[in-house]
Amino acid sequence: MMTNGLALCAVFVHYLTKTSRLGIAPDIAYKTPMTLKIGIAGISGRMGQMLTEEVVAAGATLVGGVCRPGDDAKGATLFADIAALAAACDLVIDFTHASTVIPHATALTHAGTSWVLGTTGLSAADEAAIAAAGTKIPVIAAPNFSPGVNLMFALAERMAAALPANAYDAEILEMHHRQKVDAPSGTALGLGRAVAAGRGVDLKDVIVSGRDGHTGPRKDGEIGFATLRGGQIVGSHSLLFTAGSEQITLTHHAFDRRAFATGAVRAALWLADKKPGLYNMKQVLGM
Ligand code: NAD
Repeated sequence: MMTNGLALCAVFVHYLTKTSRLGIAPDIAYKTPMTLKIGIAGISGRMGQMLTEEVVAAGATLVGGVCRPGDDAKGATLFADIAALAAACDLVIDFTHASTVIPHATALTHAGTSWVLGTTGLSAADEAAIAAAGTKIPVIAAPNFSPGVNLMFALAERMAAALPANAYDAEILEMHHRQKVDAPSGTALGLGRAVAAGRGVDLKDVIVSGRDGHTGPRKDGEIGFATLRGGQIVGSHSLLFTAGSEQITLTHHAFDRRAFATGAVRAALWLADKKPGLYNMKQVLGM
């Protein structure tokens, strides 16, 4: 009788857990860090290795991960594919390659597993898949998880709103390590989106990326991007507003990937008790 009672109780807790994730039951905090099962997509990568340390340091349960076949996962538990990983976890932290975004969105949505996505170089189709996933599961996608850069996004929007576009030319300069595969960086594009939002325009209508050759004079309202690559620079970004008689510059240097890894794990713990939805780092950091 006692056993049956316990079993019934376990079934009820399981029901509450699953239904709250589907947004049917009230929003209840159902996981502590210790009981939160986290998987890492891209576990063999530069970010994946650091995330492994930070998930354990946060006291969550690291279930394992996935990576490109043949990569050295340094002893981590590897799952056959993202579907198998998603089925074994409450939440997946994903720092891989843009080509994985659509299949990962499908697998995580199917499993009802939350998604913290840091991959950059996303296409419009990737962004649409992320938005669609956000209607079914809790999702945070951010081009940069460091608190400093997220504050920079907020400041960029305020500066752009205060400084007229016909007088202050906005230019974004970024430099990263020589292995980086996408340009401009997701963070640089995030800064561009923040400036565009402050000016009430759409970035795609004003972006000028990588000037070369006979470009003609700069037009009012353009948001320019320049990309540098070299060595092992973790990530440096500057936003410059330049007028005829003054210049104001906002600069962020990341010295260590840990700034991104701790931010992503913080986002994961924050997301653990949320209903399905597309959330952002501003909400995580309370900005
Ligand atoms: P990396 O090349 O060191 O690691 C990539 C990882 O993804 C590896 O584990 C690799 O095996 C895996 N992978 C690649 N292609 C795959 C595929 N098709 N299927 C399954 N796994 C695959 O790269 P990194 O420096 O760790 O960066 C990973 C991503 O995270 C990049 O897009 C990078 O720009 C982005 N990033 C984001 C932030 C942020 O704060 N949002 C910070 C740093 C890096």
